[in-house]
Order: sequence, then structure tokens, then C-alpha cells
Amino acid sequence: MAEREYEAVIGLEVHVQLKTRSKLLCADAAEFGAPPNTHVCPVCLGLPGALPTINARAVEQGVRAALALGCTVNPALAFARKHYFYPDLPKGYQVTQHDRPLAGSGSVEVPAEDGGDGVRTVRIRRVHLEEDTGRTLHDPGARVTRVDLNRAGIPLAEVVTEPDLASPAQARAFLVHLRRLLEYAGASDVAMEEGGLRVDANVSLRLAGAGEAGTRTELKNLSSFGGVEHALDWEIARQAGVLRAGGTVEPETLLWDAERGEGRPLRGKEDSAAYRYLPDPDLPPLELEPAWIERVRASLPEMPAERAARLVAEYELPPGQAAVLTSTRDLADYFEAVARGGAGPREAAAWVLGDVLAAVRAAGVPLSEFRVRPSDLVVLLELLRQGVVSRPGARRVFARMVETGAAPVQIVAEEGLARSEDEAEVGRWVDEALAAHPAEAERLRAGETRLADFFVGQVVRISGGRADPREAEAALRARTGG
Ligand code: ADP
Ligand code: MG
Repeated sequence: MAEREYEAVIGLEVHVQLKTRSKLLCADAAEFGAPPNTHVCPVCLGLPGALPTINARAVEQGVRAALALGCTVNPALAFARKHYFYPDLPKGYQVTQHDRPLAGSGSVEVPAEDGGDGVRTVRIRRVHLEEDTGRTLHDPGARVTRVDLNRAGIPLAEVVTEPDLASPAQARAFLVHLRRLLEYAGASDVAMEEGGLRVDANVSLRLAGAGEAGTRTELKNLSSFGGVEHALDWEIARQAGVLRAGGTVEPETLLWDAERGEGRPLRGKEDSAAYRYLPDPDLPPLELEPAWIERVRASLPEMPAERAARLVAEYELPPGQAAVLTSTRDLADYFEAVARGGAGPREAAAWVLGDVLAAVRAAGVPLSEFRVRPSDLVVLLELLRQGVVSRPGARRVFARMVETGAAPVQIVAEEGLARSEDEAEVGRWVDEALAAHPAEAERLRAGETRLADFFVGQVVRISGGRADPREAEAALRARTGG
């Protein structure tokens, strides 16, 4: 934060879509990308008399999310109606939870935002279930607004933190970590581009070192990590300006305009009475059996911090590499499948963090759809270990695997990438290299032996990786008297 005399106090309310096939209260598909208003029924359209049923899978996913955040799950849940008027809210109220939420009092250890070793503990105040709203699509050209209710009723978990974050960068680091935890738990895919994660950010300033918190404002509907950071920077600067000019910060809700990079006052901060929360008479309170909660807990996978620690212990990887390899569960699975294939963990880590990640990024696909499966890479690394292909040869085979999806053995055979076993052939490559660089060849013959490495490199290049560097070096010595 830029303002030295003030320090920021930040708390986030994060809405994440839970991964389920159907919506929270009806059987419509909880799916992104369908033509507008095709996943709708009387329940999510809010037609009179339609009766909701709670999706057990959504509750389970909410429990997974809560447990992944170290929360205590409340065995007795109730659903409430939160009333407000908005065109994408067909019932005129949102089904959410108020006084008996799904879970409370969690905490997560967020890796330091500067990439250092430190962690910051952020307490989770509560996690509750609620239904998503529809979407309004503004078409300023045609001066109309359309409503798409496909999203209405998709299950959300709202995660509310305590005000434990002290800077916009920390807020961002928390969100990155939250996304990772939920992805590991399998509770949510948290696809920001699809509106799978939306954030309201609360921020206040206090004099540095002073205990008393200032008045907070809330920034609404931030939908990217960068947006959260940018909006908080802007709001902190605005509040600091108000305070320095001797003014007072009004408690208000601001709507962030990402295009203009500024917030606009939306309304004064509503208190909860304004929403007229009422118990939902159509939804009975739920009792969760403790044994069921424990079964969900037992089904959670190893979480990222534990997994990174195990990768360090089991494979003797540097902690920095383990941290990157555990950034997603898919990547960690991929690495372990390769590492267990026999090539050795260091070699596996080098390939996964190097060629694999670069190729996945270039292909712009999720790792799960990446052509080169771990089992293929295991075979390639075995070919490399046995000396069937050279290191540069292996990288060429890998590039072909990425392009074609063919098996490494097939590529080696088809492209003639196997290491040459033919001494005469290696000799011809050496002659070619010497002829191409006559001046260097002269100096090598005159005793400048450090040029040998240069020529071996040339031979490997000319041979397309097929020459064994040791054989090339022997042939070079034989010709230059080294
Ligand atoms: P509301 O019910 O009005 O949304 P809550 O007390 O539930 O208010 O808090 C909502 C969010 O505001 C939480 O994420 C909390 O951490 C955050 N918050 C509370 N006090 C402050 C403060 N002084 N400064 C910044 N954020 C705060
Ligand atoms: Mg709130």
C-alpha cells in the first residue's frame, strides 16, 4: 500500500460456484455456455406454486469446500430468503443461509504474496450455501437489457473472511490460494472467466499502529484477481485522500467499473434488516449426520501444503519446485505419474516444469487435455536413459509428441532420431563440422582444446541429435590429434 500513515484492513466475501451437475433447488443443468434460458424450470423461474428440493450433492460440495478451509461444519442447517429487487432475481428473493450457515471458524495458511517462505493466517468467518442469480446482459446499442436465467439457482458457496488481510497484494494471494484449495478438494473449478468466482471486498483504513478500525466500504462484484487488487488500490487511495483532507469515510457500497478503473457509489450500506431475512418455509432445516461429515472429510485428497512437503521429502525436490508442481492438483498428479515411472524424480521435475509446462501454455489447453500423457513421457525418458536418443533428440521427439500425439517409440523410428551406432556416420558428421568452421578447426589442431566442446555441439546439431557426444568427441580427437 502506498499510503504510509494509514494501514489497510481488508475482509473478503467470495462467491464460488460449486461443482455439481444440477442446480441447488431443482434438476436443471448447472452448466455454463448454453443458449440463454434453456436451463430453466418453474422452480428457478420463480413461478407461483413451484416447490424446491435441496440438491444433496450441492450440500456435500459445500461441506468439502468448508472442510478444505479448516472450518467446523454445523450439523444443523437452515435456509433463509433474502429479499431484494433485481431483474435477474425472478423470485424477488434469494435462497441463502443466514443464522444457521453451513460452517464457521476456519482458517487457511496463505503463502506470502512476495513468493517468500512466510505464510499468513487468514481466518474464515463463515461458509454458507446460496443460489446464484441470473445474468442481465446490457445491449446499450439496442437500448435493451436481456435476462438469462440459466445461472439462476446454480449452487454457490459464499466464503467470508475475517478482516485479516493487510494489502491488496495479500488479498490477491489469498484468492489464488483459495482457488487452489477448492480445486484440490474437487468442490469447485473456480473458473474466473465464466463468472465462477465473484468477490466483494471490504476495506477500511486506520492509522498505522493504532488499534481502532476505521469506517469500511464494500466494493461489489469484482470478477478477476487483478480486478480485486486494482479496485482495492484505488479505494485505499480514495479513502486516504478523504481522511487526509480531514473528511470522514462514509459507509457505502461501491460498484467497481473495471473498464474505467474506478468505483461508483451504488448505495449506502444496507443493514441486514433491509433484506428482511425470513426462514424459507419451503425448505426444511437439514440435519447433517456427524458420521457423514466425517466421511466427506476422509474423502478429501492430500491438500497442497502437505503434498508439497511430501514431494520435498519423498523425491528430494527443492521446495521451490515442489511449490510450483503442487500449484494445481492435475500438475502434481502428472509429475508424480512421471516420477514414479523410473526416470528419476529430478529428471521428471525438470521435464514437467520445463518442456511440459511450456508446451501446455503454448497449446492453451488444460493439462487434462494435453496430448502427451505421463505414460508417454515415461517411455521417452526411458529411451533417453538407455541412450537410445540423445538429450537434444529427446526434445525433438517430445515436440513431435506434442504436435501429433504419437507414441515416442514410433516417432523415434519414423523420424530416424535413434542415436547413431554407426562409427563411419559419426565420423562424417565430425568432418562436416570441421569443414564448416575451418578457422576453429585450425586452432583446435594447434592445441586450443577447449574448442572440442564447441565441435561436439556442432556435431550433435548437424546430426539432429543422433550423434552420441562421447563418440563424437572420440572421432574428433582421432582427426585433430587432441
Ligand atoms: P455485512 O453483514 O455487512 O456484510 P460482516 O460483518 O459480515 O458485514 O462483514 C463482511 C465483511 O467485512 C467480512 O469479510 C469482514 O471481514 C469484513 N470487515 C469487517 N470489518 C471490517 C473492517 N473494519 N475493515 C475491513 N473489512 C471489514
Ligand atoms: Mg456482506
